[in-house]
Amino acid sequence: MEWFKIKSEKNHDLLVVNNFIHRVDRIRDKTEYYKCIQNCGGRAILKNLKNKTDVILSKPRCHPTHGVELANRGFRNKLKEELTQNPTKPVPKVFNEIRRSVITSGIEGATNSEVIDAIPVFTSIKSSGYRKKMKMIPPLPSKLSDLTIEGSEGNDNKIIIFGTEGFLKRLCNSEIIFMDSTFKSAPKLFLQIYTLHCFVMGVMVPMVYALLPNKSTNTYTRIPNETYGLFCGYIFK
Ligand SMILES: [Zn+2]
Repeated sequence: MEWFKIKSEKNHDLLVVNNFIHRVDRIRDKTEYYKCIQNCGGRAILKNLKNKTDVILSKPRCHPTHGVELANRGFRNKLKEELTQNPTKPVPKVFNEIRRSVITSGIEGATNSEVIDAIPVFTSIKSSGYRKKMKMIPPLPSKLSDLTIEGSEGNDNKIIIFGTEGFLKRLCNSEIIFMDSTFKSAPKLFLQIYTLHCFVMGVMVPMVYALLPNKSTNTYTRIPNETYGLFCGYIFK
């Protein structure tokens, strides 16, 4: 008798015997009684014996097996698992990857053609897929003090500076440093993107990007100070 257990959408145990799915009816001591999910009267009994677990099917089934259903559940479970583990991965990408992998490797209890029949169309899993993903992603901060960066304090005057050690080295070795800012493309919570450029082999290249919360004098004077602070050891010419 071929059998295994799977989880239902609500995380209950389901027992699959010869590709018929059963839900728990009752449990008495070490014996678990299950009934067919199609309510056909079909039953399965699982006995936890001393050294092994024995499963028997009682009463014959008057309908085809649940291969397509198994494939469909298997597909949805794999999708859910992948979206929970990689919430930043785009949903259509995850869907296509899982689709390819289940067609190649199959799903326990389902034949190849049952798997192909059971794969849902993308539009039918789209919204639940996005819901699962959103549950895993923390909400976006609504103000700068909510933006947590290791080592920074919770105030609304945060400046975020992006750069690399190599770029800062170049910037410090440069005779002239150019500064520019744009308000238009600043991300939410910031007023402007501020950039420090220098010439590299005759081409002007942006070296450091800073996101600024406002355009006060104090903020502008903080940039060189904070940049020094980050990459101490390099000194502007
Ligand atoms: Zn049945």
